[in-house]
Amino acid sequence: MDAEKLEKFLQKNGQPSFRLKQINQAIFQKGLATFSEVSTLSKDLRQKLENEIPMLSFEVEKILQSSDGDSIKALLKMSDGALVETVLISPKTDLWSACISCQVGCPMSCEFCATGSLGFRRNLTFEEITDQVLFWRQYVRENFSAKNPQLKFNIVYMGMGEPFANWENVQKSLKILLDENLFDFASRSISVSTVGISDGILDLAQKFPQVNLAWSLHFADDEKRSKYMPANRSENLEKMRETWRKYFSLTRRKVFVEYVMLKGVNDSIEDAQKLAAYLKSIGNSQLLHVNLINYNETFKNFSPSSKKQVQIFKQFLEKNGIKATVRKSLGSDIQGACGQLAAGK
Ligand code: SF4
Repeated sequence: MDAEKLEKFLQKNGQPSFRLKQINQAIFQKGLATFSEVSTLSKDLRQKLENEIPMLSFEVEKILQSSDGDSIKALLKMSDGALVETVLISPKTDLWSACISCQVGCPMSCEFCATGSLGFRRNLTFEEITDQVLFWRQYVRENFSAKNPQLKFNIVYMGMGEPFANWENVQKSLKILLDENLFDFASRSISVSTVGISDGILDLAQKFPQVNLAWSLHFADDEKRSKYMPANRSENLEKMRETWRKYFSLTRRKVFVEYVMLKGVNDSIEDAQKLAAYLKSIGNSQLLHVNLINYNETFKNFSPSSKKQVQIFKQFLEKNGIKATVRKSLGSDIQGACGQLAAGK
């Protein structure tokens, strides 16, 4: 929903300023799905708002739930017909994370990623980004919050697209999510995941120092990384080492290093050695936490590493002073897990 349009509409209709606050709280913070449910408004105003202010900038085409109930994926149709996916996951009890998209497709073309194979169609507007959060807030309210008022709600920019390749809209969306009069999220409940775009990382550190950052590294070897992740050709490991050093001098926040485990590609002890050595070379390795991600098979020609190999890899990192966690994979049966979003394909 366009908050500025709402404000102008209320001014034009001679409404006192507290009305805006009432409506914003009801819609953005409580997650009421229609103006008709905002009981503090007159019937006439509710009707006018329903007619004039669209709640969401897209249509919800399809909703799929995983067999374990821990992931829900929605296929969204934008006003120009572009399709985008967004996922709600529950990594632990009492917590839901909305994994939101920032582009239609992705220009980064990572070889192992279903989104990357779609190519790039366009950037999402800030409203199309924040409306995904609004949609999930409505969904959580309707389906879970009534039973569990203690429920926490996080946001991760880990859906389709590279956030720093659409930084203008992503930073506007962050401002809206953090605005105490609108969504009112805490900075630390929001995470941005990037393939590694130096300018964007350093700008985020200055403008949103408390927002969490995750870096999709996946290979600690320039040759391999450039082969499977073309973004490495301009932002190679040496450049990124300098970027992280600057990042840590600006903010002492922990960075999550994402490493997808691909059988026979990046999961050997030699790969683990390179990863540990590279992360240590950055300095502040206590602030770098590796998430080992089980690969979710797509139509791509890669296979997940065995559980045993993932454990061997993890133990090697830990013995070498690098903290590592094996991340539980959620939503793979609905193609809603990391790297699987392909807009219904
Ligand atoms: S892994 Fe992320 S950056 Fe790479 S193609 Fe997929 S969505 Fe884009």
